[in-house]
Amino acid sequence: MNKFQWNPWHGCHKCSPGCLNCYVYYLDKIRDKDPSIVTKSKTNFNLPMKKNRNGEFKIPPKIELATCFTSDFFLEEADKWRAEAWEIIRFRKDINFLICTKRIARFNQCIPEDWGEGYENVTLAVSCENQQKAEERLPILLSIKAKHKVIFAAPLLESVDFSKFLATGEIEMISVSGESYKGARECHFDWIRKIKETCDRYHVKFDFHQTGSNFVMNGKRYHINHRDEYKQAKKGTQYLNELLKK
Ligand code: SF4
Repeated sequence: MNKFQWNPWHGCHKCSPGCLNCYVYYLDKIRDKDPSIVTKSKTNFNLPMKKNRNGEFKIPPKIELATCFTSDFFLEEADKWRAEAWEIIRFRKDINFLICTKRIARFNQCIPEDWGEGYENVTLAVSCENQQKAEERLPILLSIKAKHKVIFAAPLLESVDFSKFLATGEIEMISVSGESYKGARECHFDWIRKIKETCDRYHVKFDFHQTGSNFVMNGKRYHINHRDEYKQAKKGTQYLNELLKK
């Protein structure tokens, strides 16, 4: 998970197979909160604009800010708040806003008038958990104007072939993760390896972000504590680098 997060609104609706065990739903249930009610954050809507006692921004410059990771930036309920969020994004040109969505189909009706070829400080990440969702969402991502486009293969639910999308040269990175928490579906090392090979073939950055809680490798199943998923993914990346060097 990114160190810095900005969640201007919270709550979401399940819309895709990848949403089945959504972590927002999981964590809200623990907090006795209803995640299907979408609310504007009272305290953190303007987080990127907040300053400390020294007059410095609390969110420092030159960082990547995971944006709207407890909702979806392009959710209908947020239509009334999004213009204000774009203003903040436009103002803080010194940080990179990483916006991940499953609702890329709504993109063109949600951008500000001066979007043009895209804002330099916005990276659009489209989440694709299986081949079907990749086929539905990635042609849209490729057709829209944006300065930085990445794919989140998360939670990866099957082997996915991203070749034709990477061949366009438009995608900067694929970040891969398994599913976390209770009821997590399995994620196979072989699926990750295939994506890494595809990334290498097309010179696209590869990021194995987290293993998920139910990881299968060489026919063996590993139940991994959530806090160890990132560490294990790092080890997996090192292993993959060695393996594919041979
Ligand atoms: S789109 Fe994302 S935040 Fe919304 S329900 Fe699905 S997984 Fe959860």
